[in-house]
Amino acid sequence: MGARSWESWHGSNDVFNGNLRGTTDTDYFYFFCPKCPDNQILLVSDYIDDSNKTKRTKYGHKDIGIVFKIKCAKCSYKDYIKITNRGWQGGTFQNT
Ligand SMILES: [Zn+2]
Repeated sequence: MGARSWESWHGSNDVFNGNLRGTTDTDYFYFFCPKCPDNQILLVSDYIDDSNKTKRTKYGHKDIGIVFKIKCAKCSYKDYIKITNRGWQGGTFQNT
């Protein structure tokens, strides 16, 4: 049984369209549960590094692609989120 691929780790509608929020304390970022009303901090339980070591972005930076598996200890919500430098890298956010 092989490792799960990047493609099989998809977030649900619960994280789409700005529904996933978070904050920092020092320089660490924390995600808030989109289901709980009181900013419950999500647990990050696993990740896949799908960065392409030979590829560069259009800005000349190393390609970065990481999927985090997240869950809430309070309500048992589970999901996936992705952080990458493949998409938007500037400009003003417009939720289309
Ligand atoms: Zn929760």
